[in-house]
Amino acid sequence: MTVHESTLALHGGPPALRDNDLPTWPVFGEAELSSVHDVIASGKWGSIHGDVVAGFEREFAAYQDAAHGICLANGTLAIAVALRAAGVGIGDEVIVPPYTFIATASAALFVGAVPVFADVDPATHLLDPHATEATITSRTKAVVVVHLAGRPADMDAFAEIGRRHGLAIIEDCAQAHGAAYKGRRVGAIGDVGTFSFQSSKNITAGEGGAVTTDDDALAATLYSLVNVGRVPGGGWYEHASVGYNLRLTELQAALLRAQLARHPALQDVRERNATLLSQALADVPGIRLAPENPDVTAHGRHLFVFRVPELGAGSVRDTAVKALAAEGLPGASAGYVPLHRNEALMREARAIADRLGQPYPLAELPAADQVSADTIWLPQAYLLGDEDQTRAIAAAVAKVVTGLRAAL
Ligand SMILES: *Cc1c(COP(=O)(O)O)cnc(C)c1O
Repeated sequence: MTVHESTLALHGGPPALRDNDLPTWPVFGEAELSSVHDVIASGKWGSIHGDVVAGFEREFAAYQDAAHGICLANGTLAIAVALRAAGVGIGDEVIVPPYTFIATASAALFVGAVPVFADVDPATHLLDPHATEATITSRTKAVVVVHLAGRPADMDAFAEIGRRHGLAIIEDCAQAHGAAYKGRRVGAIGDVGTFSFQSSKNITAGEGGAVTTDDDALAATLYSLVNVGRVPGGGWYEHASVGYNLRLTELQAALLRAQLARHPALQDVRERNATLLSQALADVPGIRLAPENPDVTAHGRHLFVFRVPELGAGSVRDTAVKALAAEGLPGASAGYVPLHRNEALMREARAIADRLGQPYPLAELPAADQVSADTIWLPQAYLLGDEDQTRAIAAAVAKVVTGLRAAL
């Protein structure tokens, strides 16, 4: 394709897509409308009285190959609760990737622990097991592994690290509903899995979250943390531990049940379109896609991620994102600012370590810095179109990268 920079919509050329060329999210229909209606009509709006949350918890846990699932308010507090259930507390170190949503690290701060960063693999954007092991100290208690974009991390390696060093392995599955590693869905491969049902996620109720585990004792602790310290089957004013109230409403669970039923068919569409996009973009000079990995037996397809190393080196990655918006892809994103560059987070992490007289371990994180400068992603909603829409998206991406690369 020969594209001159001047033909970019950013510079006044005709945009590659029109508004109605894009699929939208959320996808919903009669099932969502009628199930929410039924909950309202029942007058049982809280899970204390209804059985819709309990029903969804069973269905969702089974979907993720987990023995237990407990719903809660959101995916951020899901990680905090998972850490607390795993015994992580004041001054303990929790290893997290620097290239993820801020909640992965802030959750450690919420339980008084210190988030410590280990670098990612630049080819996949995922936490690197070798870097993780090199970051372990006598204070390390847990690792939060993120299945970023929906791509499962190397769970065999992390399970082995957990065993060898006696660490809890928490899976942040906020972007990985339905994703599978070596044939097993994520969520209970490690000790606890955490999920989000916030508006952008592949299963949503606007807000919401869940924790999953195979461990009966952890499940009981998680239940208590979500339910003001109550124990399953215990008395109303019997608080066996100190817990939060993080319960989901029946209305949210009604939406989630309908969304869960929809998920397999939508995942097939996302998978087909992600494959189409990958094929269309694989040979476009300047675009680098993550390599295929046979251990990833189902990709969650939350984000379509690619790198543009030359545009990054030429400091025009952000221009490329603006150019994509101008072409008709306003959902294109420059991705995360790496968390070790977030002042607020670093200030709090250091403050906890300082108050306890502990050193704060901060390694160089060159891969996180690199990928944060040259990554672009498209949201999952863009993977829900038909073949023509998907080809138009691919053409817009190729046009922008080719045009800006020619102008470097
Ligand atoms: C969305 C997200 C969260 C937080 O979930 P919320 O429900 O928005 O609190 C945590 N981790 C990752 C990787 C996420 O993408």
